[in-house]
Amino acid sequence: QQDYDKVPDAEKIAELLDADPQITHVSMVHSETTSGILNDIQAVAKVVKERGRTFIVDAMSSFGGVEIPVGEWGIDFIVSSANKCIQGVPGFSFIIANKAKLMESKGKARSLSLDLYDQWETMNKDGKWRFTSPTHVVLAFSKALDELHIEGGIEARSKRYYDNNRLLIEKLEKMGVRPYIGGALQGPIITTFFYPDQHKFSFEEMYLYIKERGYAIYPGKVTEADTFRIGNIGEIYREDIEKLCEIMEAFFGQYK
Ligand SMILES: *Cc1c(COP(=O)(O)O)cnc(C)c1O
Repeated sequence: QQDYDKVPDAEKIAELLDADPQITHVSMVHSETTSGILNDIQAVAKVVKERGRTFIVDAMSSFGGVEIPVGEWGIDFIVSSANKCIQGVPGFSFIIANKAKLMESKGKARSLSLDLYDQWETMNKDGKWRFTSPTHVVLAFSKALDELHIEGGIEARSKRYYDNNRLLIEKLEKMGVRPYIGGALQGPIITTFFYPDQHKFSFEEMYLYIKERGYAIYPGKVTEADTFRIGNIGEIYREDIEKLCEIMEAFFGQYK
């Protein structure tokens, strides 16, 4: 068990695996959207691989927004979806799998609809989903991939996300709003912030004020601290961060 504001330590995971040979799989979230942390999946992949176990990564909110050399790092299954950093619409998820491991999974699924092997086999046969295909989502996904390509690929998108995220943190810090994580562990996707000292407003008041002016933020989710969150996935540019920060400054100004 690890604190919300720290990352799982690869050395510790290695110890746990060495102590218990019955552990066959390790699964891990990459971009952790409760805290905003970007976990070190590369270091964990290494210790998991060295011990011959299977490594599964939830890259829901990082895939497409952060470079992930899936094969090189030794990730066996990486899961993401159409509607996060690929910037498509919600409707399907996808998994990039180590083929040998996927073959091994044949007949082992404990769920009909989530039978990955069966889905893969069917798609290989006739290119279809086993159930009704989410046609409009696939079309939007294809368009989103074109847009990702036009933007300059994952590298360019990642830079935009990182730049936006750093600018956001820098501007809010000047207003006395500190990030919960901060430093190297902070990912570029979503940031958890502490409220300014002695604030006299509720999240709802702040949320509505910002929403009325064109932007939406998230409530906090970590249990041991009073926080709110700002995500920056999607069609968000430097101007948006500047605009949002002006709105927030005006909001905080009301309580000075
Ligand atoms: C968004 C997200 C999910 C859930 O994704 P859905 O599209 O709601 O199914 C799961 N894990 C992480 C890390 C996420 O960011």
